[in-house]
Amino acid sequence: MTPPKVERVALDDAAGRVLAVAIDADDDYPNAPRSAMDGFAVASASTPGTLSIAGDIAMGQAWTAALKYGDTASIPTGGVVPDGADAVVPIEDVRVDGRSVVIETAVTAGENVSPRAGDMRRGERILEPGQRLAGPQIGVLATVGAVEVPVYRRPVIAMISSGDELVPPSARPRPGEVRDSNRYAIAASLRMMGATVRHYPTVSDEPGALEAALAAALPDCDAIVLTGGSSVGERDRTPEAVASLGDPGVIVHGLKVKPGKPTVLAAAGGKPVIGLPGNPTSALMILEAVAAPVVAALTGAELPRAFLTARLGTNARGRPGWTWYVPVALQNDGGTPVAHPLPLRSSSVSLPARAGGYIVVEGTGAELPAGTLVTVFRFL
Ligand code: AMP
Ligand code: MG
Repeated sequence: MTPPKVERVALDDAAGRVLAVAIDADDDYPNAPRSAMDGFAVASASTPGTLSIAGDIAMGQAWTAALKYGDTASIPTGGVVPDGADAVVPIEDVRVDGRSVVIETAVTAGENVSPRAGDMRRGERILEPGQRLAGPQIGVLATVGAVEVPVYRRPVIAMISSGDELVPPSARPRPGEVRDSNRYAIAASLRMMGATVRHYPTVSDEPGALEAALAAALPDCDAIVLTGGSSVGERDRTPEAVASLGDPGVIVHGLKVKPGKPTVLAAAGGKPVIGLPGNPTSALMILEAVAAPVVAALTGAELPRAFLTARLGTNARGRPGWTWYVPVALQNDGGTPVAHPLPLRSSSVSLPARAGGYIVVEGTGAELPAGTLVTVFRFL
């Protein structure tokens, strides 16, 4: 797999993208000591006392002259604390008497002042490559003046669904037909992971059709994700079709997991080819639990995985030697959320939508008793 390429995007278009470079502060921030309060700038040593008002500090402007000992100046929140002052007395703690200010309580040096470089020091490493950009990171980029942001190009992932029973969501399925939900569910999750999805026509179960579709898609994408046709039934041809793409071909066919046993993990021409099961719950679960790291590697980002800790409401069952992904409903009445395992139906479309997430049950015992603290992974 080749590392993702770098492109530059405008700051305002960078949300959700993956930073391709490290970002160091280009200057000290704040670039001058600033007041944290509305009040009066003072030399702390001159408090308590009665000080004369030398002037009013304006927002966004440096105070030109140093403050004389015994003088003070009014200052807004964010105003530059002048030379000669090292603290700010909040407006509510003073009594203004004409051109004098009476300060009854002493302040200490640095009180109510954000010091120069207190937030970021020039040259300090603030963001690392591989970080996904959201509000907090965008704020830093704007502050350091990064108007064109180097980010990793989004990987293009070909999306192929297969099966003679599939009809588009715009059609009303007749008995035996199924709306192609996986194509859109998987595409949505892939986009949430940072990929660009390119849809390819739905493939029939005719011999040779999947081979042709895969061969057409491979040159134009960075990876292929397909769904359906992966179980060992007579008409399910994913493994063979994937093998026809070339070396190394199928790496894994069949995982010791539930749901999602009939998964195919393959590669061709240096590109990952991921064959997800056709059953909708299985397809999404495998995408999130197994394929997500592959997609993350293509995007150059760390795994975008949201999780929380919950307490099991009832026992969660697995099978010794297997990895079971158990969907859970979350109940949150304040305090630690409670996770209730839901009965697994691989063929359900609604189960991942009803579930708050899933837990992983594995190991020799493969039974987690009610009350156990578990990690619940949220669907993307
Ligand atoms: P398969 O892996 O092709 O044997 O399919 C297993 C089950 O998943 C069958 O019941 C299919 O109808 C269903 N299925 C396969 N592909 C999709 C899809 N794209 N959307 C919704 N259901 C599907
Ligand atoms: Mg099928």
